[in-house]
Amino acid sequence: METLNGFCRRSGELLLPPAEPCHLDPGALWIPEDRSEQATGHRWNAATGSGYCGRPLAGPTSGVLGECAPCRIAWEQAETYRQTIILPRRRTRAASWPYRTLDAFSARADSLEPGDAYTLSGCSERHFVVEATSRRSDSHTVLLVYVTGEDRIAECRIRRDRLVAVERPVLAA
Ligand SMILES: [Zn+2]
Ligand SMILES: [Zn+2]
Repeated sequence: METLNGFCRRSGELLLPPAEPCHLDPGALWIPEDRSEQATGHRWNAATGSGYCGRPLAGPTSGVLGECAPCRIAWEQAETYRQTIILPRRRTRAASWPYRTLDAFSARADSLEPGDAYTLSGCSERHFVVEATSRRSDSHTVLLVYVTGEDRIAECRIRRDRLVAVERPVLAA
């Protein structure tokens, strides 16, 4: 009986995987993990893996929601910096890609470095790494990326051991 309970618990977990978006839609509002106050949406912060206000979040929602004020203020500051300061530089770098000598190989996500570009299954975009943060204890690595097709800076949080196709510029000797 114990075994059956254990099995049911495990299969329950399998049926409810946490949402794992690739790069994040900056317009997305998320609902809190405890599902309370479903009328209020939050902004997900890849660096912390929770809302900008500190609340654990369950996943993005497409419903029309009010917005958590602390999340909105912190997110707007981060977003303004990304789209006005970081974006133009990354756009220039991405434009130089066809003229560069690139090493192409498969690697774990936690080996990505700023300056790399990568693609992965499940997302049609090429991602240029702006920042990569991976603490030894974390199961995920957090990336700030330039997404070429959408022409914007976005956050990603992907499993460290996820395989990605990397393009890394070969430095001239
Ligand atoms: Zn993506
Ligand atoms: Zn919030």
